[in-house]
Amino acid sequence: VDVLSISNLHCKYGNTEVVKSASFSLHSGEIGCLLGPSGCGKTTILRTIAGFQEIDQGDIKVDGQIIASNNKLLPPEKRNVGMVFQDYALFPHLSVLENVMFGLKNKSVESEQRALDMLATVKLEALANRYPHELSGGQQQRIALARALAPKPKLILLDEPFSNLDTELRRTLSLEVRDILKEQNTSAILVTHDQEEAFTVADKIGIMMNGQIQQWGTPYDLYHEP
Ligand code: ADP
Ligand code: ADP
Repeated sequence: VDVLSISNLHCKYGNTEVVKSASFSLHSGEIGCLLGPSGCGKTTILRTIAGFQEIDQGDIKVDGQIIASNNKLLPPEKRNVGMVFQDYALFPHLSVLENVMFGLKNKSVESEQRALDMLATVKLEALANRYPHELSGGQQQRIALARALAPKPKLILLDEPFSNLDTELRRTLSLEVRDILKEQNTSAILVTHDQEEAFTVADKIGIMMNGQIQQWGTPYDLYHEP
């Protein structure tokens, strides 16, 4: 079964339609990438999947279950979807460990162990008691990923996660994130305007323009399209 399936999605701000009949689906364990210029509607699609944005037409299924359609809207916390934002969005007054534990339901010993395991996965166990301002941009982004992975979501959404980093770090970190997602067998949708990043990370790429997904396929398909 597909972990994510979007069909005929339409989205408006006021009278302006910014997503126009978008359709694509992702197999379990795959990393999908929405690639397109600023303003084409990538973030809006992520927001509809996360549950922060209403849709006008179409439907969104996670693991075969409809989570959004024009007469159904599951609240964000019930969607089993994790999110990593562009600007890290760690809580400045919480330690690294507390940040990673934040999304876990209770503050038990098991939760703390799970958070420590996720910090080990992103190789930052040693920073558990630090605070976000003491970390580099790349470290903060890895902590944000650890936090998103901690509750074991079906799907992780990453909105331009590397765009504030320099070119070299962006390449290293995108490969690292790919490895971590594969190791955890977690599916993901990543949004970027950087073609190299998309081709580095993705199993499937959607080329977006003006609210439409013009092509959806493997990097190989997109290179060999007639
Ligand atoms: P991208 O992520 O590809 O940069 P967005 O999904 O953020 O694109 O935006 C798509 C379009 O919708 C843009 O023209 C943007 O200005 C507009 N837009 C985004 N959010 C809002 C909003 N809350 N209200 C009105 N227009 C918006
Ligand atoms: P991104 O860089 O991830 O595409 P933006 O910085 O464009 O995001 O948008 C940040 C926030 O501002 C989002 O919540 C988006 O919905 C909102 N936004 C974007 N464009 C507009 C707009 N034209 N009018 C109102 N809100 C907007």
